[in-house]
Amino acid sequence: MKKVGFIGLGIMGKPMARNLLKAGYELVVCDSHQSNIDAVCEGGPAHSAPNGAAVAREAEVIVTMLPNSPNVRAVVCGPGGILETARPGTIVVDMSSIAPLAAQEIEKACREKEVRMLDAPVSGGEPKAIDGTLSIMVGGDKDVFDQVYEMLLAMGSSAVHCGAIGAGNTTKLANQIIVAANIAAVSEAFMLAVRAGVDPHLVFDAIKGGLAGSAVLNAKAPMMMDRNFAPGFRVDLHIKDLNNALDTGHGVGSPLPLTATVMEMLQTLHADGYGREDHSALARYYEKLTGTLIQ
Ligand code: NAD
Repeated sequence: MKKVGFIGLGIMGKPMARNLLKAGYELVVCDSHQSNIDAVCEGGPAHSAPNGAAVAREAEVIVTMLPNSPNVRAVVCGPGGILETARPGTIVVDMSSIAPLAAQEIEKACREKEVRMLDAPVSGGEPKAIDGTLSIMVGGDKDVFDQVYEMLLAMGSSAVHCGAIGAGNTTKLANQIIVAANIAAVSEAFMLAVRAGVDPHLVFDAIKGGLAGSAVLNAKAPMMMDRNFAPGFRVDLHIKDLNNALDTGHGVGSPLPLTATVMEMLQTLHADGYGREDHSALARYYEKLTGTLIQ
């Protein structure tokens, strides 16, 4: 079985790398924090390398799971990056959520070195990363997708080829718009219920099986009512995604009024010092407006 490189072992990368180990892949891993490296290496045949170039010396397929476009650009194209040493035919699978345009630029740099690249962001958050049931949305050449399909299914329950390079991240932006607007709507609705004197737990029980039911409602309403805003998916990462969505939308002539509104709510949370909390902390925005807690 091919040796797989894995760069970026944070909230998502760590369990995803562990699932590759469970599926029998041998890993060479890299992260800025030694504790993350140790947490993965104790789970199977894996060792660490200091940077992308060192990973690419050993691995034919390299997964990256990093915060945003500049991090991926640095790890792939920068000094000490993957392209310094990667052999022709090496495959880079960037599973981070980045700007579609950045994915296209990085793929172009890869192509010049005969390295193949897919953008393959994920949805499902930490729980599904742990279970290996992420939804994976992929852009890039179909023949490369076919080569890594089996590996992707060690981390996810579905991997859909959405089109050319960048299409994975465009799909992810659509996902992030729906999630952000949905969490804001849940917060707004539950605040209405509380202010009107109805127990939000009963509202949740009453509506979760109807048309308003959703994966977002099931995952985030209990967190709001428990006042548990531990990430999960951080407010600051969602700001990053909505920035990418607004930039992309403006670039293609698609106005995003709902996204712009939720963006300002998230910016308020960031300014109030909640940037590292879970995005379910959108409830705090309404709590600030009303002086009432959703519980
Ligand atoms: P994270 O901040 O927890 O992890 C990022 C990791 O990258 C960190 O461990 C950091 O040390 C490492 N890193 C950064 N620069 C590096 C470099 N130059 N070399 C080596 N390691 C480096 O973030 P996360 O929550 O795991 O998210 C990763 C990506 O997945 C983001 O794009 C995010 O938007 C996306 N995502 C996250 C979730 C979620 O619920 N957390 C869900 C879906 C998608």
